[in-house]
Amino acid sequence: MTIQWFPGHMTRARRQIQEKLKLIDVVIELIDARLPLSSRNPMIDEILQGKPRLIIMNKADLADPAVTRQWQDYFKEQGHAAFPVDASTGTGVKEIPGQLKLLLKEKIDKQIAKGMKPRAIRALIVGIPNVGKSTLINRLAGRSIAATGDRPGVTKGQQWIKVGSEIELLDTPGILWPKFEDQNVGYKLAVTGAIKEEILNAEDIAFFAVKYLVSYYWDAFRERFELEEDTPHNPDESDEIVAIMEAIGRKRGCLVSGGRVDLEKASRTLLRELRAGKMGRFSMESPY
Ligand code: GDP
Repeated sequence: MTIQWFPGHMTRARRQIQEKLKLIDVVIELIDARLPLSSRNPMIDEILQGKPRLIIMNKADLADPAVTRQWQDYFKEQGHAAFPVDASTGTGVKEIPGQLKLLLKEKIDKQIAKGMKPRAIRALIVGIPNVGKSTLINRLAGRSIAATGDRPGVTKGQQWIKVGSEIELLDTPGILWPKFEDQNVGYKLAVTGAIKEEILNAEDIAFFAVKYLVSYYWDAFRERFELEEDTPHNPDESDEIVAIMEAIGRKRGCLVSGGRVDLEKASRTLLRELRAGKMGRFSMESPY
Protein backbone atom coordinates (compact mmCIF):
# COMPACT_ATOMS: atom_id res chain seq x y z
CA MET A 1 0.00 0.00 0.00
CA THR A 2 1.33 3.43 -0.85
CA ILE A 3 1.02 6.25 1.59
CA GLN A 4 0.31 9.73 0.34
CA TRP A 5 2.52 11.78 2.58
CA PHE A 6 1.10 15.11 3.56
CA PRO A 7 2.71 17.43 6.11
CA GLY A 8 0.30 16.21 8.78
CA HIS A 9 1.26 12.58 8.16
CA MET A 10 4.93 13.43 8.38
CA THR A 11 4.49 15.24 11.66
CA ARG A 12 2.50 12.34 13.07
CA ALA A 13 4.98 9.72 11.83
CA ARG A 14 7.82 11.68 13.35
CA ARG A 15 6.02 12.08 16.66
CA GLN A 16 5.23 8.37 16.78
CA ILE A 17 8.85 7.44 16.24
CA GLN A 18 10.05 9.91 18.83
CA GLU A 19 7.62 8.44 21.36
CA LYS A 20 9.08 5.00 20.64
CA LEU A 21 12.64 6.29 20.94
CA LYS A 22 12.03 6.80 24.65
CA LEU A 23 11.54 3.06 25.02
CA ILE A 24 14.55 1.79 23.14
CA ASP A 25 18.36 1.67 23.22
CA VAL A 26 19.15 1.33 19.55
CA VAL A 27 17.59 1.92 16.13
CA ILE A 28 17.80 -0.37 13.13
CA GLU A 29 17.56 1.95 10.15
CA LEU A 30 16.41 -0.08 7.17
CA ILE A 31 17.32 1.19 3.72
CA ASP A 32 17.21 -0.34 0.23
CA ALA A 33 20.64 -1.61 -0.84
CA ARG A 34 19.91 -0.58 -4.43
CA LEU A 35 19.45 3.05 -3.44
CA PRO A 36 20.92 3.72 -0.03
CA LEU A 37 20.52 7.49 -0.23
CA SER A 38 17.17 7.81 -1.95
CA SER A 39 15.55 5.25 0.33
CA ARG A 40 16.57 7.12 3.48
CA ASN A 41 14.40 9.58 5.22
CA PRO A 42 15.77 13.09 4.58
CA MET A 43 15.47 14.09 8.27
CA ILE A 44 16.70 10.84 9.78
CA ASP A 45 19.57 12.32 11.80
CA GLU A 46 17.32 14.93 13.33
CA ILE A 47 14.53 12.44 14.05
CA LEU A 48 16.76 9.88 15.74
CA GLN A 49 18.24 12.47 18.08
CA GLY A 50 21.60 10.77 18.42
CA LYS A 51 20.28 7.28 19.29
CA PRO A 52 22.82 4.58 18.43
CA ARG A 53 21.96 3.24 15.01
CA LEU A 54 22.67 0.18 12.91
CA ILE A 55 22.11 0.67 9.20
CA ILE A 56 20.77 -2.38 7.40
CA MET A 57 20.88 -2.39 3.62
CA ASN A 58 17.99 -4.69 2.84
CA LYS A 59 17.16 -6.39 -0.47
CA ALA A 60 20.89 -6.85 -0.96
CA ASP A 61 19.98 -9.92 -3.00
CA LEU A 62 18.76 -7.54 -5.71
CA ALA A 63 21.64 -5.03 -5.50
CA ASP A 64 25.03 -5.04 -7.21
CA PRO A 65 27.35 -6.58 -4.58
CA ALA A 66 30.37 -4.47 -5.60
CA VAL A 67 28.35 -1.28 -5.17
CA THR A 68 26.92 -2.50 -1.86
CA ARG A 69 30.47 -2.92 -0.56
CA GLN A 70 31.23 0.67 -1.57
CA TRP A 71 28.20 1.81 0.39
CA GLN A 72 29.33 -0.14 3.40
CA ASP A 73 32.66 1.75 3.27
CA TYR A 74 30.86 5.02 2.71
CA PHE A 75 28.70 4.60 5.81
CA LYS A 76 31.71 3.48 7.83
CA GLU A 77 33.47 6.71 6.89
CA GLN A 78 30.41 8.54 8.17
CA GLY A 79 30.70 6.70 11.47
CA HIS A 80 27.88 4.21 10.93
CA ALA A 81 27.98 0.44 10.90
CA ALA A 82 26.06 -0.78 7.84
CA PHE A 83 25.36 -4.35 6.74
CA PRO A 84 23.74 -5.97 3.72
CA VAL A 85 20.81 -8.28 4.40
CA ASP A 86 18.22 -10.21 2.45
CA ALA A 87 15.29 -10.31 4.83
CA SER A 88 13.21 -12.36 2.40
CA THR A 89 15.49 -15.39 2.76
CA GLY A 90 17.21 -14.40 5.99
CA THR A 91 20.73 -14.01 4.59
CA GLY A 92 22.71 -11.75 6.93
CA VAL A 93 19.91 -11.48 9.47
CA LYS A 94 21.60 -13.59 12.11
CA GLU A 95 24.47 -11.09 12.28
CA ILE A 96 22.14 -8.34 13.47
CA PRO A 97 21.91 -9.20 17.21
CA GLY A 98 25.72 -9.37 17.51
CA GLN A 99 26.09 -6.04 15.72
CA LEU A 100 23.55 -4.41 18.03
CA LYS A 101 25.45 -5.67 21.06
CA LEU A 102 28.69 -4.36 19.59
CA LEU A 103 27.16 -0.92 19.11
CA LEU A 104 26.11 -0.78 22.75
CA LYS A 105 29.17 -2.51 24.15
CA GLU A 106 30.55 0.55 25.92
CA LYS A 107 27.24 1.25 27.65
CA ILE A 108 26.83 -2.37 28.67
CA ASP A 109 30.41 -2.59 29.96
CA LYS A 110 29.81 0.52 32.09
CA GLN A 111 26.69 -1.04 33.59
CA ILE A 112 28.61 -4.21 34.40
CA ALA A 113 31.44 -2.18 35.94
CA LYS A 114 28.89 -0.49 38.22
CA GLY A 115 27.69 -3.92 39.30
CA MET A 116 24.43 -3.66 37.37
CA LYS A 117 23.00 -6.64 35.58
CA PRO A 118 22.48 -5.55 31.97
CA ARG A 119 18.94 -5.92 30.76
CA ALA A 120 17.96 -6.91 27.22
CA ILE A 121 18.83 -4.43 24.48
CA ARG A 122 15.67 -2.81 23.17
CA ALA A 123 15.53 -2.06 19.46
CA LEU A 124 13.21 -0.38 16.97
CA ILE A 125 13.16 -0.82 13.21
CA VAL A 126 12.53 2.30 11.15
CA GLY A 127 12.33 2.88 7.40
CA ILE A 128 10.27 4.03 4.46
CA PRO A 129 7.29 2.00 3.18
CA ASN A 130 8.11 -1.22 1.34
CA VAL A 131 11.73 -1.35 2.41
CA GLY A 132 11.11 -4.66 4.18
CA LYS A 133 10.44 -3.68 7.81
CA SER A 134 7.73 -6.28 8.41
CA THR A 135 9.70 -8.96 6.62
CA LEU A 136 12.72 -8.27 8.81
CA ILE A 137 10.67 -8.21 12.02
CA ASN A 138 9.22 -11.61 11.12
CA ARG A 139 12.69 -12.94 10.32
CA LEU A 140 14.18 -11.73 13.57
CA ALA A 141 11.22 -13.08 15.50
CA GLY A 142 11.44 -16.40 13.69
CA ARG A 143 7.69 -16.35 13.14
CA SER A 144 5.01 -14.26 11.53
CA ILE A 145 4.28 -11.22 13.65
CA ALA A 146 4.24 -8.04 11.66
CA ALA A 147 1.38 -7.53 9.27
CA THR A 148 2.78 -6.18 6.04
CA GLY A 149 1.17 -2.95 5.03
CA ASP A 150 1.72 0.62 6.05
CA ARG A 151 -0.57 2.84 8.00
CA PRO A 152 1.28 5.59 9.80
CA GLY A 153 -1.91 6.76 11.44
CA VAL A 154 -2.91 3.40 12.84
CA THR A 155 -1.53 2.39 16.17
CA LYS A 156 -2.01 -0.85 17.98
CA GLY A 157 -0.78 -2.11 21.28
CA GLN A 158 2.98 -2.42 21.21
CA GLN A 159 4.70 -5.55 22.23
CA TRP A 160 8.25 -6.67 22.65
CA ILE A 161 9.50 -9.55 20.57
CA LYS A 162 12.36 -11.57 21.99
CA VAL A 163 15.26 -12.04 19.58
CA GLY A 164 17.53 -14.52 21.30
CA SER A 165 18.08 -13.90 25.00
CA GLU A 166 19.64 -10.45 24.83
CA ILE A 167 17.56 -8.43 22.35
CA GLU A 168 13.97 -7.22 22.46
CA LEU A 169 12.40 -5.69 19.39
CA LEU A 170 9.30 -3.48 19.20
CA ASP A 171 6.75 -5.34 17.09
CA THR A 172 5.60 -2.23 15.23
CA PRO A 173 8.21 -0.48 13.10
CA GLY A 174 8.59 3.25 12.67
CA ILE A 175 7.37 4.27 9.23
CA LEU A 176 9.13 7.22 7.66
CA TRP A 177 8.56 9.15 4.46
CA PRO A 178 11.06 8.87 1.62
CA LYS A 179 13.10 11.65 0.11
CA PHE A 180 10.83 12.57 -2.74
CA GLU A 181 11.45 16.25 -3.29
CA ASP A 182 13.86 15.47 -6.13
CA GLN A 183 12.23 13.97 -9.23
CA ASN A 184 15.12 11.58 -9.91
CA VAL A 185 14.77 10.20 -6.41
CA GLY A 186 11.07 9.63 -7.08
CA TYR A 187 11.89 7.70 -10.24
CA LYS A 188 14.53 5.58 -8.53
CA LEU A 189 12.07 4.70 -5.78
CA ALA A 190 9.48 3.86 -8.42
CA VAL A 191 11.83 1.60 -10.38
CA THR A 192 12.51 -0.43 -7.26
CA GLY A 193 8.84 -0.56 -6.31
CA ALA A 194 8.95 1.67 -3.23
CA ILE A 195 6.53 4.08 -4.94
CA LYS A 196 3.65 2.64 -6.87
CA GLU A 197 2.99 3.33 -10.52
CA GLU A 198 -0.24 5.13 -9.75
CA ILE A 199 1.78 8.09 -8.54
CA LEU A 200 4.27 8.32 -11.38
CA ASN A 201 3.47 7.23 -14.91
CA ALA A 202 4.65 3.66 -15.76
CA GLU A 203 6.09 4.71 -19.12
CA ASP A 204 8.11 7.50 -17.52
CA ILE A 205 9.41 5.16 -14.84
CA ALA A 206 10.37 2.51 -17.41
CA PHE A 207 12.03 5.17 -19.59
CA PHE A 208 14.07 6.29 -16.58
CA ALA A 209 15.01 2.67 -15.77
CA VAL A 210 16.05 1.80 -19.32
CA LYS A 211 18.11 4.99 -19.67
CA TYR A 212 19.95 4.13 -16.47
CA LEU A 213 20.39 0.41 -17.07
CA VAL A 214 21.69 0.70 -20.64
CA SER A 215 24.35 3.08 -19.28
CA TYR A 216 25.51 0.96 -16.37
CA TYR A 217 24.35 -2.60 -17.01
CA TRP A 218 24.12 -2.85 -20.79
CA ASP A 219 25.29 -6.47 -21.08
CA ALA A 220 22.91 -7.82 -18.45
CA PHE A 221 20.06 -5.72 -19.83
CA ARG A 222 20.69 -6.75 -23.42
CA GLU A 223 20.85 -10.42 -22.46
CA ARG A 224 17.68 -10.37 -20.43
CA PHE A 225 15.65 -8.72 -23.17
CA GLU A 226 17.44 -10.48 -26.02
CA LEU A 227 18.58 -7.33 -27.79
CA GLU A 228 21.27 -7.37 -30.47
CA GLU A 229 24.69 -6.34 -29.31
CA ASP A 230 24.75 -3.43 -31.77
CA THR A 231 21.36 -2.05 -30.69
CA PRO A 232 21.78 1.74 -30.42
CA HIS A 233 21.57 2.60 -26.74
CA ASN A 234 22.84 6.08 -26.15
CA PRO A 235 21.15 7.16 -22.90
CA ASP A 236 20.99 10.76 -24.10
CA GLU A 237 19.06 9.84 -27.24
CA SER A 238 15.42 9.53 -26.22
CA ASP A 239 14.50 7.92 -29.54
CA GLU A 240 16.94 5.10 -28.93
CA ILE A 241 15.57 4.49 -25.45
CA VAL A 242 11.98 4.44 -26.70
CA ALA A 243 12.99 2.08 -29.55
CA ILE A 244 14.42 -0.29 -26.95
CA MET A 245 11.20 -0.13 -24.93
CA GLU A 246 9.23 -0.90 -28.08
CA ALA A 247 11.49 -3.81 -28.97
CA ILE A 248 10.94 -5.24 -25.50
CA GLY A 249 7.18 -4.72 -25.86
CA ARG A 250 7.19 -6.68 -29.12
CA LYS A 251 9.19 -9.49 -27.56
CA ARG A 252 6.79 -9.68 -24.66
CA GLY A 253 3.71 -9.57 -26.90
CA CYS A 254 2.49 -6.21 -25.57
CA LEU A 255 0.67 -5.15 -28.72
CA VAL A 256 -2.49 -3.25 -29.58
CA SER A 257 -4.58 -3.78 -32.71
CA GLY A 258 -2.65 -2.96 -35.84
CA GLY A 259 0.48 -4.48 -34.34
CA ARG A 260 1.62 -1.33 -32.59
CA VAL A 261 3.37 -1.71 -29.26
CA ASP A 262 1.33 -0.99 -26.15
CA LEU A 263 4.04 1.04 -24.46
CA GLU A 264 2.27 1.26 -21.14
CA LYS A 265 1.84 -2.51 -20.92
CA ALA A 266 5.42 -3.01 -22.08
CA SER A 267 6.59 -0.61 -19.36
CA ARG A 268 4.70 -2.46 -16.65
CA THR A 269 6.08 -5.80 -17.84
CA LEU A 270 9.61 -4.44 -17.95
CA LEU A 271 9.36 -2.97 -14.47
CA ARG A 272 7.86 -6.15 -13.05
CA GLU A 273 10.79 -8.17 -14.39
CA LEU A 274 13.37 -5.70 -13.09
CA ARG A 275 11.83 -5.60 -9.63
CA ALA A 276 11.72 -9.37 -9.46
CA GLY A 277 15.45 -9.46 -10.21
CA LYS A 278 14.99 -11.17 -13.57
CA MET A 279 17.73 -9.06 -15.18
CA GLY A 280 20.08 -9.88 -12.35
CA ARG A 281 21.36 -7.65 -9.60
CA PHE A 282 21.66 -3.91 -10.05
CA SER A 283 22.12 -0.81 -7.93
CA MET A 284 20.70 2.56 -8.85
CA GLU A 285 23.15 4.82 -7.08
CA SER A 286 26.72 4.59 -5.91
CA PRO A 287 28.57 6.66 -3.34
CA TYR A 288 31.69 7.50 -5.32
P1 GDP B 1 7.52 -2.74 4.85
O1 GDP B 1 6.47 -1.91 4.19
O2 GDP B 1 8.76 -1.94 5.08
O3 GDP B 1 7.05 -3.46 6.08
O4 GDP B 1 7.93 -3.84 3.76
P2 GDP B 1 7.51 -5.37 3.66
O5 GDP B 1 8.17 -6.17 4.71
O6 GDP B 1 6.04 -5.45 3.53
O7 GDP B 1 8.21 -5.77 2.27
C1 GDP B 1 7.86 -5.15 1.04
C2 GDP B 1 8.14 -6.12 -0.08
O8 GDP B 1 9.55 -6.34 -0.20
C3 GDP B 1 7.52 -7.49 0.11
O9 GDP B 1 7.05 -7.95 -1.13
C4 GDP B 1 8.68 -8.35 0.60
O10 GDP B 1 8.53 -9.70 0.26
C5 GDP B 1 9.84 -7.74 -0.15
N1 GDP B 1 11.13 -7.89 0.55
C6 GDP B 1 11.39 -7.59 1.83
N2 GDP B 1 12.69 -7.83 2.11
C7 GDP B 1 13.26 -8.28 0.98
C8 GDP B 1 14.59 -8.69 0.62
O11 GDP B 1 15.55 -8.65 1.40
N3 GDP B 1 14.79 -9.10 -0.66
C9 GDP B 1 13.77 -9.12 -1.57
N4 GDP B 1 14.07 -9.54 -2.80
N5 GDP B 1 12.52 -8.74 -1.26
C10 GDP B 1 12.27 -8.33 -0.02
